[in-house]
Amino acid sequence: MEKEERQKVADQIMSVHGNARGDLLLSTISYIKRKEGDNGLKDVENELKRLGYPIDFNNIERLKWYPKSVNILIYFLCTEIFKWGKEDIFELGRAAVKLALITRVIAKYFISVEKMFEQAPSNWDKYVDFGSAETVEVNKEKRYGIVRIHGYNFHPVGCYYLEGFFIGMLDFVVQGKKEIEETKCVHKGDSYHEFILRW
Ligand SMILES: [Zn+2]
Repeated sequence: MEKEERQKVADQIMSVHGNARGDLLLSTISYIKRKEGDNGLKDVENELKRLGYPIDFNNIERLKWYPKSVNILIYFLCTEIFKWGKEDIFELGRAAVKLALITRVIAKYFISVEKMFEQAPSNWDKYVDFGSAETVEVNKEKRYGIVRIHGYNFHPVGCYYLEGFFIGMLDFVVQGKKEIEETKCVHKGDSYHEFILRW
């Protein structure tokens, strides 16, 4: 992507309001460092600064609120700088949810897959201060669950991250093969995102 175009995408992402705990930012940073090394991480930090959205990666507090858009911009920059694809962003979400301290606390209450789905709406609010999660259906016999996300309208990379995030959650309660499919999306004209998880 040309520099001018990249700036446009960055400005668009950063114009969306809503905050996330520093915990999510730290888990993303830690995953990027693991995958791309210190130099890779520095490239992301420098690019954020160049685009006019500087953030000091060494000075982030876990419980403080930061614009969620900064997180989304970082995922987007990974696709630009490291040429990460959809699967890489998915893996970031899957790993990051487990690296987050919030998850390690709430996962203690994931005593069953139904409970996990039931608690999704209240757990959503522990990570972010905007939008909402809605559990539409959980079917233990047929092994699937449907979740809708409202008010999360940044950029399609955010959807790939969420897919990984939900599978990462499911990893706590279900062993073996898992799949997720986004069946509705605000970036495709729907009024919310809808995901079907199968296990
Ligand atoms: Zn979506």
